[in-house]
Amino acid sequence: MAARSQPPQATYDAIVIGAGIQGSFAAYHLAQRHRDTLLLEQFILPHSRGSSHGQSRITRSAYPQAHYARMMPDSFRLWQQLEDEAGTSLYRQTGLVVLGPAGDQELESCRRSLGAGDVLDTTALAQRFPSLQLQPGEVAVWDGTGGVLFADRALRAVQDIFRQHGGTLRDGEKVLRIEPGDVLTVTTTAGVYRAPRLIITAGAWTGALVAPLGLRLPLQPLRIDVCYWREKEPGTPGTGRASPCFIALGLSQAPHSIYGLPALEYPGLVKVCYHHGSPVDPEERDRVPPDAPRPYVGLLSSFISRYLPGLEPQPAVVETCLYTNTPDEDFILDRHPKFSNIIIGAGFSGHGFKLAPVVGKLLCELSLGEEPSHSTAAFTITRFSSVLQPEL
Ligand SMILES: Cc1cc2nc3c(=O)[nH]c(=O)nc-3n(C[C@H](O)[C@H](O)[C@H](O)COP(=O)(O)OP(=O)(O)OC[C@H]3O[C@@H](n4cnc5c(N)ncnc54)[C@H](O)[C@@H]3O)c2cc1C
Repeated sequence: MAARSQPPQATYDAIVIGAGIQGSFAAYHLAQRHRDTLLLEQFILPHSRGSSHGQSRITRSAYPQAHYARMMPDSFRLWQQLEDEAGTSLYRQTGLVVLGPAGDQELESCRRSLGAGDVLDTTALAQRFPSLQLQPGEVAVWDGTGGVLFADRALRAVQDIFRQHGGTLRDGEKVLRIEPGDVLTVTTTAGVYRAPRLIITAGAWTGALVAPLGLRLPLQPLRIDVCYWREKEPGTPGTGRASPCFIALGLSQAPHSIYGLPALEYPGLVKVCYHHGSPVDPEERDRVPPDAPRPYVGLLSSFISRYLPGLEPQPAVVETCLYTNTPDEDFILDRHPKFSNIIIGAGFSGHGFKLAPVVGKLLCELSLGEEPSHSTAAFTITRFSSVLQPEL
């Protein structure tokens, strides 16, 4: 919980809006750089209304896009640094299988991102992941660095270390208004704060927050079904806690990938999800009639029957999360085109958690007017047309 004993201070070196994993890491880097930083969160923490909650996220080195693959060694290093600072374990190395049709472009790019890339034949795959059935014509690549990040624990750890470095976290305070200027003014439901720099990392709410600043960002929030599947035989080799994670690419029956993590959250329940969802207003996320069709659950059921026949083909638990996607599914990490002391981090889709330590570092560097330590060329706002509203 955020400390409440101090009266609200009015002026800071930096303000960050949104205490999900990206805003929390941006605030952590600013505080480590000795900037007096205020991190604002609309909901009381911890909460499950955004994108960063839950027990688990996949991390990996295998990436189809070179710009993310290049950031991963730094990300692994920074996660390790946070583990050391917090004195807690945030990552379990399980290895990761990336599978798909032989010759699939994304699969080939993943293999290249691993250097030589360890291509698994059927025997090697059966040893490492006995319950996973490849389909005819499919191959698998092994990423030994892959594993699970403990998401809730990581979010708590980064916020704790932020506070230990002197940062202020105020939860249950929704930002209502941002007034640009050399010194910006941020008005919340509980106070008015000022700072010479602002980072906006408001997840699915980012579009609404930046619209009054004259920005029309093409951000689409998606409602994601997070599905857990019960082992038919409890303790089946290849589904338990020590099993690898997987990503299935190039599926003929689905335009997006399917990914899975070993049983971790709930004993005997394996997490397998579709990397896509239904467009939604984040305020309306849970207003789905109980009998509404869930097309992606059906798609997953059919995948489970064919690839993981050791699991029951109906989900035992379905939870909800939000993705926020850009049209090209790349992040936005950039300055506001008109107000250069407002930095925006958004569009982290379903793959932003593992990269959050680097994202936070880049947002911190942009806000301090420094050259970012990784190229942000793929993440500019201006790659989208008509983002600036005419009155600006
Ligand atoms: C089901 C699922 C599975 C995923 N799996 C993986 C994975 O395996 N590997 C991986 O790397 N990534 C994964 N991701 C993606 C990753 O979790 C997200 O990219 C990441 O959590 C996004 O974080 P965020 O900080 O941008 O958003 P959020 O966590 O949503 O944080 C934004 C915060 O801003 C706050 N806020 C909004 N408006 C205001 C306001 N006006 N005032 C104050 N606060 C405000 C919100 O309440 C929220 O807490 C997954 C995501 C989901 C949903």
